[in-house]
Amino acid sequence: MTLRDIMKYIESEYEVINLTPCEVCGGDYQAEDLEIVLIDDVPYDICQCSCCNCGHEKVFEFCAPFIEDKNLKKIKRNLN
Ligand SMILES: [Zn+2]
Repeated sequence: MTLRDIMKYIESEYEVINLTPCEVCGGDYQAEDLEIVLIDDVPYDICQCSCCNCGHEKVFEFCAPFIEDKNLKKIKRNLN
């Protein structure tokens, strides 16, 4: 998987977030911070979001086992 594919995958995660209504008011979530962490050696995208309407916070987790170590740094650089 190339870096471009991975970025595409992350974009599709943002789509999921955009399509998820706020559980409090039904508003739209906005991604504030995206972090890639290792849980049991499996990389996860942890995306911190908040509702742009009421400010309710929600954390989205996406399993991303295809992200290899060598790409992890590049992705983090791209996100910053
Ligand atoms: Zn809300």
